[in-house]
Amino acid sequence: MLIEKLELVRTRITQACNQAHRDPKTITLLAVSKFHSSTAIKELTNAGQSDFGENYVQELVHKQAELAEFNLRWHFIGPLQSNKCKEVARCADTLHSLDRIKLIEPLARYRPAHLPPLKICLQMNIDDEESKAGIKDWKTLVDTAESVLQHEQLTLCGLMTIPKATHTREEQRKPFAQLRYWRNELEAKLNLSLPVLSMGMSADLEAAIQEGATIVRVGTDIFGARPQKNT
Ligand SMILES: *Cc1c(COP(=O)(O)O)cnc(C)c1O
Repeated sequence: MLIEKLELVRTRITQACNQAHRDPKTITLLAVSKFHSSTAIKELTNAGQSDFGENYVQELVHKQAELAEFNLRWHFIGPLQSNKCKEVARCADTLHSLDRIKLIEPLARYRPAHLPPLKICLQMNIDDEESKAGIKDWKTLVDTAESVLQHEQLTLCGLMTIPKATHTREEQRKPFAQLRYWRNELEAKLNLSLPVLSMGMSADLEAAIQEGATIVRVGTDIFGARPQKNT
């Protein structure tokens, strides 16, 4: 059942790639497992899924330990507080939601020496929504990127966004095109390659792929509706 849903999402990715004349191998499907059990994650590993995304630090720590034998890549995609940087630095392969300079020093300090550098995407608030996290302006983006580059324990990979929900494909594409624009500007400014665009979820992954997504983050369409958080 879970595997069938995973296959459906893989098919959507392939079809979107065909339409956009892109190679499906250039897209990583991140299965967003927040609120879902380690058992469900284990089931997906049988179908070759190895990238999983979590929004809450406690869940990340718990599942990473429980599933250590499976050699999975964990992505932290939720809001991060400075007192939780240590856990993310220890458990994650990639942090998608860096939006404040304050977090950078503790992330670098706590990244264990035996692990490769923590991959970093900077989160942009494209729609300028008050309620959402993310960097809103060019200067903050450049300052934050330059600060990440000062730490060899961190690797700056690209940008991430969570746009507000819209309904037509055309509307969905706009914020994704905007994120790609910021990425291109930042590459030019810093004179380095930032290959990752983390954008697109269950409802809009096709639009994101059309605009150049390299990581799509899919929860609902793989795992079904999320159970209520019981804390
Ligand atoms: C929950 C979440 C997702 C997955 O969203 P779905 O609509 O369930 O696919 C993707 N990205 C982030 C940052 C999330 O918090």
